[in-house]
Amino acid sequence: MDIWPKSKRSEVMSRVRGRGNVVTELKLLALFRQNKITGWRRHLPLPGRPDFAFPKQKVTVFVDGCFWHGCPKCYSRPKTNRKFWDRKREENVARDKRVTRQLRRQGWKVIRIWQHALRKSPRVCISRIRRAIV
Ligand SMILES: [Zn+2]
Repeated sequence: MDIWPKSKRSEVMSRVRGRGNVVTELKLLALFRQNKITGWRRHLPLPGRPDFAFPKQKVTVFVDGCFWHGCPKCYSRPKTNRKFWDRKREENVARDKRVTRQLRRQGWKVIRIWQHALRKSPRVCISRIRRAIV
């Protein structure tokens, strides 16, 4: 099942995850521009490397890919290597929780946006962020 040693595998996975996220990240970036939302920074060295952070208001924003982060609405189990993917999903969900807790302990507000929400209801996403940064 494991085709890579643990270290190598997580490296590969994080790269895949990173790439998968770029499109949704850019989509949110475009929405910020359209809605004249300023004050954000990308990829600050915080726990979990949030996609966006508003340092002044201490707000972090994560755009979670529905597959990688195990979205309850969209996730569908791959047909092959199920054990591997099930574990991967569990690990990712657990890590997301851990990161959220860690950031909150450090006084950051954490906003997590599903990829599908950004696609289907961008206005709702933007207003969530707006409310957090006023
Ligand atoms: Zn979803």
